[in-house]
Order: sequence, then C-alpha cells, then structure tokens
Amino acid sequence: MREDFLHFLWRWRRFDASKQFTSDGQPLEILHPGEPNLHAGPDFFNARIRLNETLWAGNVEIHLNASDWLAHRHDTDPAYDNVILHVVFDEDQRLCRSNGEPLPCFVLRDRIPPQLLEKYFRLEHERAWVPCEKSLNAVPNIVRLNWLDRLLVERLEQKTESIAQVVAAAGQHWEEAFYRVLARNFGLKVNVEPFEALARALPLRLLAKHQDHLFQLEALLFGQAGLLSEKFEDDYPKALAKEYQFLQHKYDLQPLPAGQWKFFRLRPAGFPTIRLAQFAALAHRSAHLFSQLLETTNTAETEQLFTAEISAYWRTHFRFDKTAAGRAKPLGREFVHLLLINTVAPFLFHYGRTKGLPDLQDRALRLLEELPPETNTVVDGWVKRGQRAANASQTQALLHLKTRYCDVKRCLECAIGNAILR
Ligand code: SF4
Repeated sequence: MREDFLHFLWRWRRFDASKQFTSDGQPLEILHPGEPNLHAGPDFFNARIRLNETLWAGNVEIHLNASDWLAHRHDTDPAYDNVILHVVFDEDQRLCRSNGEPLPCFVLRDRIPPQLLEKYFRLEHERAWVPCEKSLNAVPNIVRLNWLDRLLVERLEQKTESIAQVVAAAGQHWEEAFYRVLARNFGLKVNVEPFEALARALPLRLLAKHQDHLFQLEALLFGQAGLLSEKFEDDYPKALAKEYQFLQHKYDLQPLPAGQWKFFRLRPAGFPTIRLAQFAALAHRSAHLFSQLLETTNTAETEQLFTAEISAYWRTHFRFDKTAAGRAKPLGREFVHLLLINTVAPFLFHYGRTKGLPDLQDRALRLLEELPPETNTVVDGWVKRGQRAANASQTQALLHLKTRYCDVKRCLECAIGNAILR
C-alpha cells in the first residue's frame, strides 16, 4: 500500500466513520479533513476536528506507520508543531509532541472497506497497458468527458511552461519565439534538438530578409543545418551550396554539425531534408506567421496559413542526389494538423493567458475541438479499449492521461480512478 491511498481515504472520508476514537480512546469527530498540501510541510492544512468535546483547527499528517513521524524527523521540525491529528494505517509506536503531550493518533487499519481495498490493490498491481482497463467502460461517460476536458487544459498549461521559456529566451519577441517553437515541432520527436538549434542559429529577422526567394531560404536553412558540405552530383544542391557560401560569408554564419540530423527509421516523407524544405516553404509564405495567425478567425483560415508548396527539386527527391521513388508531398494535411495541435494551439493559449485575452484561449481550445483525432500508437491503444476520441482535443487529453497518469499510476488523482474506487 502507498501513502497516497491513505491521503485519498482521508480526503474523501472513504473509511468506516462510525464510532471514531483516537488510539488513546478520545472520541473524535472530523468536521473537515483540511486542504491537501502539495508543498513541504504537513499533508493537510486547516483541518477541523472535535476531540473530546474540544474544537481543534490545524494540520493533519498522514503516514503508513506512526514511527514514520520520527523517521522523517517531524519531531524536531517546527513546521509540524501545529499538527492536531496523526492519521496512520498502523500505530506501531506511541508518539508525543515536542512539549511532551501525546500526539492524537487515528488508525485506519480496520476502517477501510474490504471492497475498496480490493479495487485499490487491483489497480495498484495490474500490469495491463491501462491498469483500469477492465473497469474502464463501466465509468459514466459524463465523468470521462469532464475529465478529458480538465486533462486538456492541464496539458496546455504544461506545454505553455516550455513556451514561456522560449519567449523569455527570445527577449519577449513573440514572432521570433513562435518561429522557434514551430521549428522545434518540425523535428517531430526525432529531430527536435537539431531543428531547435537551427532556429536559434538562424534568427527569423535573417530569414525575413530573404523571404521572397525560396532558393535563398533553402540555401540558408540547409547550409546552416550543415547539409551542404558534401560533394554533390545534382546541380541543385551544388547551386544551393554556392549560394550558402556567399550568405555564410555575408552574415558570418557557423553551420551546425550535419551528424546530428537523424534519418534512421524515418519514412522518406519524414526525412529532415523534406522537413527543412517544408520549413523553407513556410518561411517563404510569410515571415510574420504569428501576426497573421492572430488575424485568422476560423480553423480553415488557420489551416490555410500553414499550407505551402515546396520547391520543385523536393517534389522528386527525398535527399540530395537521390531521386524519390514516390512523390514527396508539400506540407501534407496531417502534418499541418500536427503543427496546429502541437504549436499553434498551445502558443495561442499561452499568448491569450499572458496578455489577458481569454478569447484567444477559447480559440485554442476550439481549434483542437475542430481538428480530427490524431492517429498514433497511444490513441490506437485507447481505441482498442473502447475509448474512441471524437477530435484532437480528446486525443491530446488521452495522450496526457496515458503518459502523465496511467503510466505512473496516478489513479488516485484521476477522475476515472476515483469513479472506479467509489
Ligand atoms: S490513471 Fe485513470 S485511466 Fe489511467 S489506469 Fe489509472 S484509473 Fe485508469
């Protein structure tokens, strides 16, 4: 058993509450269990109890064994002087406060309903892909939908933390920060770091100077990426390399090492060369994507803003000097949707929150609601367990649920887990 199960029992009073006494026989009435404390110090603040007809207000500390109080050195920590009740599974030791008074102790061991205990152990020890999968479909739909809504906001809030760091690093220049976050998401997990490094090494203002010339944008991007230093056979990369030499000298640029780009296990359409060509196409479309994004009013317009044609060479090649068997796509619709989901929606959400513009936050949520559900292994896993998502907002919530809750067994903090344990 983990201590957080005792927290759960105490917080929601899910124990046998009849004839409550402390371990030394004082009648106990729990008026309010207190508020969970997520920081250092006692586990619950501002609890209210009646002990032997005396009303007490203060903090509650919870442990599996009473002796944990000493093991954690609470006996010498003034932050615990205001503890009015020690709640334990087992009282293996009688304790006193620092002034010598007995510390009232409430023992849960024989008060936990057996059915609840059984369900808890089943969740705790189940090794399935989703530990609760056998009970999942019995959870009321309204509980599931409300929980997914909350998870989506939690996910966006977490994403905005890393966006805030990029905005700070870009000196509060929102357009530059958007460009960097967009570049990072062009890396699609495998090439996130090199894309990030590339955007830092090639500021947007420099790309903006060449916005009208797709060829020069490609020279800058492929050159700075370190991908133009080989001996080429095709005329096109030879010309790009020549152009880059000129621009490199002009702007005093240092290319990144080519070896950091990963091609292994990627489908040709996802090769970094294709992503760079697509990124160049987008930079060619606009050097002020973020400002334009703020002017769009609906999902179709937003999607259109991120749709761009790649140059002729990349329609027939996946790498330099290698003709493609198939046809390389422009920014495919599915990829544009990924950009809207992973870059645009979180960025709008963060911008709306920072600037006090709730309409923009709503727009970010609406955008996710209007985009189709994503397809990936996690989403497939949920579908196999009867959890089909209606849109990208739900797939994002399900991804968050799986990685941030199910995989780390946070069932007691999960609304679905709580519904199962009822
Ligand atoms: S976190 Fe929630 S959804 Fe995931 S296994 Fe636990 S109870 Fe189920």
